[in-house]
Amino acid sequence: MAVKTVKFGGTSLCSAENFTKVKNIILADKARKYVVPSAPGKRFPGDEKITDLLYLCYAKNSNGLSFDDTYEQISERYVGIEKELGLKTNIAQELAAIKKNILSGASEDYIASRGEYLSGLLLADYLGFDFYDAAELISFHADGTYDDETTQKWTQKLAETQNVVVPGFYGRKRDGSIKTFSRGGSDITGAIVARAVQADVYENWTDVSGFLMADPRIVENPKVISVVTYSELRELSYMGATVLHEDSIFPVRRAQIPINVRNTNRPEDEGTMVIPDAFLKYYKREGVLTGVAGRKGFTVITVYKDNMHNEVGFGYRLLRVLDRYNISFEHVPSGIDTMSLVVQETKLKEHLEQVLREIQRDCEPQSIEVHSNMALVATVGKGMIRSLGVAARLFGALYEAGVNVRMIDQGSSEMNIIVGIENDDLNTAVKAIYHAFA
Ligand code: ASP
Repeated sequence: MAVKTVKFGGTSLCSAENFTKVKNIILADKARKYVVPSAPGKRFPGDEKITDLLYLCYAKNSNGLSFDDTYEQISERYVGIEKELGLKTNIAQELAAIKKNILSGASEDYIASRGEYLSGLLLADYLGFDFYDAAELISFHADGTYDDETTQKWTQKLAETQNVVVPGFYGRKRDGSIKTFSRGGSDITGAIVARAVQADVYENWTDVSGFLMADPRIVENPKVISVVTYSELRELSYMGATVLHEDSIFPVRRAQIPINVRNTNRPEDEGTMVIPDAFLKYYKREGVLTGVAGRKGFTVITVYKDNMHNEVGFGYRLLRVLDRYNISFEHVPSGIDTMSLVVQETKLKEHLEQVLREIQRDCEPQSIEVHSNMALVATVGKGMIRSLGVAARLFGALYEAGVNVRMIDQGSSEMNIIVGIENDDLNTAVKAIYHAFA
């Protein structure tokens, strides 16, 4: 029997009405046995997220101000959901206990975590599932970093049970104090639970029907990505696409568990499947393009030297210059007599002059060219390299759109082609590439 871990984001649980949608989704599939909720999010534009209000309570209290009004807002939301759903969770009692703790100086993390805690209590009650406090499952080191080893031990017990709710976002340190992940951290809790129970799928329910093939602020109505591999996802998120953050999914990525991003408001949509690369052969995909994304703010330093390919240690000397200034590079495209360094402008900053001088001194090139204000655009798709004419289509589209390509890097990963263009051409390029392939 298949097993699924299902995580619901803040907007999925923003109101009683949405709690009902969530319940229907969970009950529609018996495999959905492990549930990880976030704290209620915004119901409408301009509304407040419970977590933000909790942080505000902490800030007010620690500055000696009254937080009564803010806490009242929080209480009303939870009590309202309890009432509308006809539950007898006694959330008012929980709220009173938390308020007492805030008044006696509870920590910021403890206060922020109560959003998920209360959401979990209500949802467990509503579903008739058991509530497992995340403080008993997720462990943090004394310095506040996440402790995966202990967490793996603590979460083993989950596999022996089913139909449970584990609130997202927090755990505890050895001394018993509550610690949260960074904002948005319920995704990590979901991934940890999915790994612990060896789920077949980790469903991440949110308010969109999956990841889009391009930024909707640039391309009108881009299509949803139906299947993306973990490494493609990494490329796209590196380029700034808003997808799940690598840090938040490493437990399932390592355990080779697929993620399915779904929309709570449109459960009929299949969403996006994120799969281990090795699973690709079991999926059918249309077209060669998985997604296109770009980022501004790079400088490309191109170094020319005749016969460079015969010179032992050239690359070493070049990169050593960056090393001395503690600057990392993004790409190093190279040819027979040229080598380029693609560096983020924010990292290069005031060091540029000095870096150029030292390259001149250590590498003795014929010339060095610097292009600032560059953007990188990655055209990502695993089948791309094997498909004939992809490059022609890509560069043809850019040419027709009037975009000047300054640099090309076809990563050895065989799944993307990166082009360097002027910052100002970014949107035009993304549009042109999307329409050439999608
Ligand atoms: N509620 C937390 C936040 O707003 C965690 C989460 O939703 O994942 O950041």
